[in-house]
Amino acid sequence: MTRAEVLVIGAGPAGIAAATAAAANGRKVIVLDDNPAPGGQIWRNKTAEENGSSGGEMKRRALESLRQSGAEVLAGRSVFAAYASGLVQTVWDASGGYVEEFGFEQLILATGARERFLPFPGWTLPGVLGAGGLQALVRGGYFVAGKRVIVAGTGPLLLAVAAHLAEDGAVVSAVLEQASLRQMVPFAMSLLGDPTKLMQGARYRSRLRKTPYRTGCWVVEAIAGNDGQSLAEVRMTDGARTWTEPCDLLACGYHLVPNTQIAELLGCAFRGSFVQVDESQRTSLPNVFCAGEPTGIAGLEAALVQGEIAGLACAGQPTVALHSRAAAARSFGLRMEKAFALRPELAALPRPDTIVCRCEDVPFGELHSHVGWTDAKLQTRCGMGPCQGRVCGPAIEHLLGWKPVSVRQPLSPVPLEALCFHGEPAGISNRH
Ligand SMILES: Cc1cc2nc3c(=O)[nH]c(=O)nc-3n(C[C@H](O)[C@H](O)[C@H](O)COP(=O)(O)OP(=O)(O)OC[C@H]3O[C@@H](n4cnc5c(N)ncnc54)[C@H](O)[C@@H]3O)c2cc1C
Repeated sequence: MTRAEVLVIGAGPAGIAAATAAAANGRKVIVLDDNPAPGGQIWRNKTAEENGSSGGEMKRRALESLRQSGAEVLAGRSVFAAYASGLVQTVWDASGGYVEEFGFEQLILATGARERFLPFPGWTLPGVLGAGGLQALVRGGYFVAGKRVIVAGTGPLLLAVAAHLAEDGAVVSAVLEQASLRQMVPFAMSLLGDPTKLMQGARYRSRLRKTPYRTGCWVVEAIAGNDGQSLAEVRMTDGARTWTEPCDLLACGYHLVPNTQIAELLGCAFRGSFVQVDESQRTSLPNVFCAGEPTGIAGLEAALVQGEIAGLACAGQPTVALHSRAAAARSFGLRMEKAFALRPELAALPRPDTIVCRCEDVPFGELHSHVGWTDAKLQTRCGMGPCQGRVCGPAIEHLLGWKPVSVRQPLSPVPLEALCFHGEPAGISNRH
């Protein structure tokens, strides 16, 4: 077993800031992340912000400070089990790799968020992708130049993705934001006092000069072409009128949901859907801290300042000087949550034959006769596939109001041969 004084899970902005602060103050820090390199979602490979703005410089400085702090970063490790008494298990290379164990005195969870997907007829067609998912593919080399793309869903990520795609040569024919203009005005007005975010928004819009940004508008169906196999057009509505537009790709995501599975496994207390933390980012477990999106979807600034607070707290350093910055970042998140709240019409989109659980091919019509998540899971295998409900869980919560009831290890697929050598360690309890 490899031992760390402070173990950080997640090498996005929050994890990088946490590890840097803890290691720079003398703690032995190890950072684990399932991606091939540190950076998380926003600093994954090339980003739109890196071209000609301060975003690339911010990433470079953050990674340089992390390197200088002496924290050790172990990429490609997916954490599939965690015990608050001081142990984390990871699988390296899930296609046939091996299990590693890490001991810790203090644990910082900085596991970020993922996109929320909502089912509608045709959402499983090739050519329909998550908004952030398509952006990640493009950052990894997927070619979109000349392709007609519609970006739809909700949240500020839509503009960032559309700008990035346009920069890579895609023809972004529309951005559809489901929130109404009236719902979004207070949020937009609040940004007037934040020059950095205003500049960022202006930069995105300047790359999308010819693209309409339609508020109060959402996708009702993705339609296949004559081959019946791939996306040809998208049917959309503004609630009063419904029309179709041709496209090659539909990038569709409904804001973000926090990655809280490890916190749930450990038994941390929650505030609604988010991990409950105090001003030092400490969870209800004394040796477990949490920073970034699992504590509230609030963007880059929140991730950085919360990460720094968690790292300093683990090193026994004062954090009070950072509390007002953290509070401001949190309040941005709350305004965002209000502005991009989901409209009820989205829950009425799936037809009985619309697949809801993509891993196990469970259609919407099969779920209705069940009384809740556990019943549906046992009878239909909904949520039992490789994603373990990460995709269909939040969708079903919006569609039917069911909440997944429990999280179990392994949190992600682990090869049996790797597990054979690492059963649950004897005498280690999951709870304090
Ligand atoms: C798909 C997507 C794209 C985004 N693109 C943008 C953008 O272009 N611009 C923008 O301003 N904001 C973007 N955001 C929002 C941005 O991620 C946040 O604003 C913020 O930067 C989050 O930082 P974080 O450190 O909390 O999380 P993240 O950056 O998400 O970092 C969390 C890290 O933890 C890792 N992790 C999670 N679970 C495990 C596990 N079990 N084992 C090992 N590692 C794990 C993840 O792989 C990830 O690297 C995006 C979000 C998503 C989900």
